[in-house]
Parts: sequence; C-alpha cells; structure tokens
Amino acid sequence: MDSRLREAINRFANSVRSVYNITVPITNIDEVVKTIGGKVELSANSYETYDGRIRKSSDCNFIIEVSENQSDVRKNFTVAHELGHLFLHMGYESNAELWDKQEKEYKREGYSEEEYEANEFAACLLMPSEEYRRVLYDFSDGNEVDVSKIAKYFNVSLPAALNRGRFLGYFE
Ligand SMILES: [Zn+2]
Repeated sequence: MDSRLREAINRFANSVRSVYNITVPITNIDEVVKTIGGKVELSANSYETYDGRIRKSSDCNFIIEVSENQSDVRKNFTVAHELGHLFLHMGYESNAELWDKQEKEYKREGYSEEEYEANEFAACLLMPSEEYRRVLYDFSDGNEVDVSKIAKYFNVSLPAALNRGRFLGYFE
C-alpha cells in the first residue's frame, strides 16, 4: 500500500473517531459499534476460516459477526477491521449511493488490497498516532520500550502494537 493511501486511511479513521466521539483507548468495542449504529454478534463458527464478517442489515444498519475462536484483543482488532470495510468499502454514512447498493459481505480473511486497507483502518482507529507517541514515551525508560505495555494499554495484541509502532517509525 502506498504511503498516500495509508495517510488517507489514517485521516479517515481520525474523522470517524471524532464524528462519533470515540475515545481511546477503546475498552468496549461493542459499545463503539452500537454508537455507530450497528451490532456485534459472537459466532461459534468452528468450521469457518474467517475471524469476522460484516453485512448490511435491515433492522440495525449492519451486523458484525465475530468468531469466538480468538483472544479478546484479537476480537477487538477484528471488529475494528470490519468497521474499516464499513467505512472504506461499503460507503456507510459517507457514500449513500454505494451504501444503497451494498450487498456484499466482507470477511476478515485472505490478503487482498481491501484486507490491508481494513487492517490499516483498524490499527489507526485503535491506536491513533498521537496517543501512541504519548504512551510510547510513558512506557519508555529512555532507551527501551516495553511494547507489551503499549499493547495492553490499547487492548490489542503484541504484533498489532508492534506493527503500528513500525509504521509510525518508532521500531525497526
Ligand atoms: Zn476483511
């Protein structure tokens, strides 16, 4: 993904947080989804390969189904990832024409360009750059940073916190 697209996605995620008054760290992502107008459902889809999926719904705008076969922190990222599809690819509250004709169901699965975009959106929604920098300095002793503390603060997995730090230029 080129850096311009990445930055655009980051700005978009910032606007979503500001429009819906979402504060970080996000401790209850189901509540966030409710604020945005949708619903999260847990599913015991042990034979399916995806972690989550999202579809338009007639009674509550959209439903995010999240597999219970993952840790809580991974669930948070999965739900945020599906919100990425909602805003970036389904046109929810941003592109009425696209939203109206939306029939596709998105999953967290595979390695398409849309998957990378949804991951980028999720990382930025959960770990805004300024907050990340603040927390990074809080958890740093001058030369070493305990990334697991950053991950814990943002309720994400260690790899997710590391990736975000790499993108922001703090780690190799
Ligand atoms: Zn996806």
